[in-house]
This record gives sequence, structure tokens and C-alpha cells, in this order.
Amino acid sequence: MRLLVVEDDPDLNRQLCTAFTDAGYAVDRAFDGEEGHYLGDNEPYDAVVLDLGLPKMDGISVLESWRRSGKTMPVLILTARDRWSDKVQGFDAGADDYVAKPFHLEEVLARMRALVRRASGHATSELTCGPVRLDTRSGRVSVDGNPIRLTSHEYRLLAYLMHHAGRVVSRTELVEHLYDQDFDRDSNTIEVFVGRLRKKLGIEVIQTVRGLGYLLTPPADAR
Ligand code: CA
Repeated sequence: MRLLVVEDDPDLNRQLCTAFTDAGYAVDRAFDGEEGHYLGDNEPYDAVVLDLGLPKMDGISVLESWRRSGKTMPVLILTARDRWSDKVQGFDAGADDYVAKPFHLEEVLARMRALVRRASGHATSELTCGPVRLDTRSGRVSVDGNPIRLTSHEYRLLAYLMHHAGRVVSRTELVEHLYDQDFDRDSNTIEVFVGRLRKKLGIEVIQTVRGLGYLLTPPADAR
């Protein structure tokens, strides 16, 4: 899952990006409204954290513009605590949720998990596919109850496939949603990660659909 953080306060921006990266997301950052608007318009983010008070272009204008051009990614706005009118304006502009400053990072992380899972049609923070379980709160993965250790890239890959289980996901889509913009992207590395992930899971849940991509489905005997 790939996120965009638009926040002009450098410390807050860094804290948010670090927390999201540690939680297993690929993260891009912007420090003003114009840069944030451009990135949100051109990159396929799974969700966005958007501060409202931003230099160059305010958050409400950024959000309104994205929604006008048909962008539907979930957006969590950051508002000032005592400004209820910010929240109303934000929701009317197309926000999906808000957090008032100052906030606890844990709350932002929990709200982000909820936004991401709802956007892909899941009701709980624990995703399952046959014997494979992925807990998006703890980042833990198990097969038949046995914990599996994954690298951060393997976790991101599995999390994306689990959020979109039952649908064919192309290699291009994976590259766009697993890596931040600064990452040296090469779709061949996806094959390598899929190979490693299959080996670690030890069961056949990731099918290769020739010419199209990958499909996560429960193993035949668990269906
Ligand atoms: Ca600000």
C-alpha cells in the first residue's frame, strides 16, 4: 500500500512518514499544496494524509481539485483542534476522515488502516486467505497458525495481494503500489519477491496468471 503525506511542518511530516514506513507502507511526501496536488493527481495512492493549512495551495483547494478530476482515493485531513468548521468544510470537499492536531500517531495509523481496508472492501483489520492470516495492526503473518517472518518488501507485497484477494493484480500495479517514487523501480524484482514469498508461505496461494499478473486465492483444498 502506498501513501502520500502532505504536511508543511517538517517535524510532523517526518514523524508521519516514519510511522507509516515502520507500519509497512510505501510513503511519498510533499511539503506544500502544489507539490501535494501534483503528486496526488499523477500517482496512484492507496490513501492520503492531507494537512489543511499549507503554503502555495490550501488543503481544501487541493482536495476539491482532486475530487473534481475524479480521484477517489481515501483522504484523511489534519485539522486544528478548535476549528469545527474545518472539519465540515473538509468533509464537504471530499475528505473521508479527519484527525485533529495535536494527535497521537497511533490514532492516525488506526484510522489509516480503517480507510485502506474499507476502500478495498474489508470489514476487519485481520485479513485471511485460506490458512494465511495477515494482521494489519501488528504486521504479523501466519500460515495455519505458524508465524512467518517476512522482509518489509515481502510484507508489502502480501498485504497488497491480500487487500485485493480474488482479483488479478498486474505487475505494473504492484510496482506502483509497493514502492515510493524515489525507489529504483524494476518490475522484474516483483517476480523475485513473489518467488521468495511463495517459498516462505509454503503453500500455493499466489497464482501466476500468464500475461496478466498475480491472483491470490485460497488453496484448492481449502476452498
Ligand atoms: Ca500546516
